[in-house]
Amino acid sequence: MLVPVDDYREGILAGIEPLAPIALPLADSHGCVLAEDVVAPWPLPSFDNSSMDGYAVLVSDIAGASEVSPVTLTVIDDVPAGFRADIPVTAGNAVRIMTGAPMPPGAECVVPVEKTDGGTETVQIREPVDAGAYIRRAGEDVIVGDTVVKAGTLLSARHLAVIAAVGKGHLVVHPRPRVAVLSTGSELVEPGTPLTKGMISDSNSFLLVAAANEAGAQAYRVPPVKDDGDAFAAAISDQLHRADLILTSGGVSMGAYDTVKEVFTEMGTVEFTKVAMHPGMPQGHGFVGESEGERIPVITLPGNPVSSFISFQNFVRPVIHKLRGLPGDDRPRIVAEITKAMDSQQPKRQFARGRFLADGRVEPVGGGQGSHVIGGLAQSDCLIVIPEGVAHVNAGDKVDVIDLRGDIR
Ligand code: AMP
Ligand code: MG
Repeated sequence: MLVPVDDYREGILAGIEPLAPIALPLADSHGCVLAEDVVAPWPLPSFDNSSMDGYAVLVSDIAGASEVSPVTLTVIDDVPAGFRADIPVTAGNAVRIMTGAPMPPGAECVVPVEKTDGGTETVQIREPVDAGAYIRRAGEDVIVGDTVVKAGTLLSARHLAVIAAVGKGHLVVHPRPRVAVLSTGSELVEPGTPLTKGMISDSNSFLLVAAANEAGAQAYRVPPVKDDGDAFAAAISDQLHRADLILTSGGVSMGAYDTVKEVFTEMGTVEFTKVAMHPGMPQGHGFVGESEGERIPVITLPGNPVSSFISFQNFVRPVIHKLRGLPGDDRPRIVAEITKAMDSQQPKRQFARGRFLADGRVEPVGGGQGSHVIGGLAQSDCLIVIPEGVAHVNAGDKVDVIDLRGDIR
């Protein structure tokens, strides 16, 4: 009995809760989901200040100023940004002021330096300005008690700026999940090692670490383990105190030496399922760890690289998002015209690799749709989804497409 893709994903997500919030320094909370409202303890701007380099003056003093008959005022103080302005502006006087400096008492407007001769002892004003001109008023942006960023917000540069401006140095956020990636297979060697017969480079762990990081995790690679139950069990136990999610690759099909399946039959509560999808039919998920604190979710991905990638997109990416405190699925889906006919194995949902053409149509990538076709995966920038019950699409048909172009930003 094959389990539908959506049911399988919902089943995994049902057991996942957002990671418990922790306090992080502001800079480290970039890309995390805020778990508290940030409320302004002071207004923004927090004091009346100048929006220009110029002169703080009384409006009545400069009302008649013009190019041909400038008004001359005495410069009684000089206020750069970061300094106090204590000397009041009175009739006939001006205070030289820089952008961001506090307005001196009594001043009614700022005349930008461009409308003056720029003098430091006396200044000639060549143009009048209105009352209030070039003054940024306290609280015109944010008032005390305003919520500047709401709990649940995914923190970007824009949010960090206002949070810093209201003086918060630490934030309570859902942390990025720590994701351990563990490849299994006696055939695997490290990239860079010359291949002897029967051996291949471990590519899945690199794929999965990168995909997990692209989903907002802090993923790391555990060195691949051979198809040996004790070695695999030991490698999993090692991760229990450091990972929020464990991903394995390989060893979950029906063959002999399918170590992951064998070990997880004894260890934890991992269940193995056949999902109605191609590629990526053999799947497993559950929890490992003795105590509640060590109850770590595990997702066992199939070994074929394309299966692993597509399984990741369908099942792991939504889990990482949920751990981060985000809604599960964020992939943009588009309807596009397909350029070639395709068949789809029934009763499965097919995820074929495709590439967008400049005109917005999508073509299946060359090299066939086998689950080992890793070269083809690199040529693709989208997944063409052919739903259950559709055995064939014709060239020119509209198909659902999962856009992968935003993966790396
Ligand atoms: P398995 O799921 O372990 O039966 O593996 C299925 C296929 O995927 C085999 O051809 C494996 O050699 C290949 N494979 C398994 N793990 C990896 C990996 N980490 N990197 C690249 N290929 C792999
Ligand atoms: Mg294997």
